[in-house]
Amino acid sequence: MSTMSYYSSASSSGFRASPLGVPSKCWCGEEITTFTSKTKENPYRRFYRCAIAMKRENEEHLFKWVDEALLDEINMVNEKCKRVAENLSALRVNVMANMEVQNKNIKQIEEELIKKMEGELLTMKENVEELGHVMAKSALKTVGIAAVIVTSIVWLWGRV
Ligand SMILES: [Zn+2]
Repeated sequence: MSTMSYYSSASSSGFRASPLGVPSKCWCGEEITTFTSKTKENPYRRFYRCAIAMKRENEEHLFKWVDEALLDEINMVNEKCKRVAENLSALRVNVMANMEVQNKNIKQIEEELIKKMEGELLTMKENVEELGHVMAKSALKTVGIAAVIVTSIVWLWGRV
């Protein structure tokens, strides 16, 4: 049995769950690097591992496919996007409920909120665009998903 098929079967049985998204550090504390699989099952598929794991193959180290990690990231951004939209409408309801407060104050509060939201949305938009670049480089079909999310963020942006 090759090393790669051992790891992929080990991770699918879930004896130690990989963290969501792109990992930065291994369980052993070592920095994570990107490697390319050379097996028949997954030729040229990229994966995350630490350098120690590549030398000591019988030890238990973090393993994650790059495409799966990027999909995690996109799902997380999508979730965050939904939360921002929910927060935004909740905040608007709040502002409307506080109409007794002086007009000046309301405007000030609203401007501050909008600034905050704009900052958050801009960061998310940049993250997604960066993901889009990475995925385009890896020539993954999932790049379409990133485009859809960018579009929805741009739409949200327009509504702020
Ligand atoms: Zn490790």
